[in-house]
Amino acid sequence: MRLGILIAAIALGTIAVAACGSGSTTVGSTERIWDPDDSTKVVKTDDEWRTQLSEEEYHVTREKGTERAFTGRYWDHHEHGNYHCVCCDNLLFTSDTKFESGTGWPSFYQPAVASNVGEVSDRSFGWNRTEVICNRCDAHLGHVFDDGPNPTGLRYCINSVSLTFKKE
Ligand SMILES: [Zn+2]
Repeated sequence: MRLGILIAAIALGTIAVAACGSGSTTVGSTERIWDPDDSTKVVKTDDEWRTQLSEEEYHVTREKGTERAFTGRYWDHHEHGNYHCVCCDNLLFTSDTKFESGTGWPSFYQPAVASNVGEVSDRSFGWNRTEVICNRCDAHLGHVFDDGPNPTGLRYCINSVSLTFKKE
């Protein structure tokens, strides 16, 4: 009888330890290191994006919002380096192609890697504009206009809040 109880206690203890073991599995950081050859799409639920991003980052990148001109962190930013997607770390623009547009938003005349940035027709608000998105996670970045400087004549008008800067 006592032996039976002892065996049962040992069995229960083993189960408890096993349960603790599986329950303590930690979810590692989901941040990705950018690789120019990696075209894998980043797909997350709205809840996952809300957890990862600030309220303003979520509104601009996932709900196609626009930060107020002259309020963002990069419109008047002149350090040498790269601008990555705030959502998925995809390389989007470099300081080499940044120029003073006078608009109050960071402006570039071309993407760092053409295939990393996508363009979508945007007819909202009665305008005919071209929306710019991150090709890896579909984040809204801003719009592109054809009144930019040489050599492309393009002006990528981007929300600071969609970007994260990495100094070189
Ligand atoms: Zn992205």
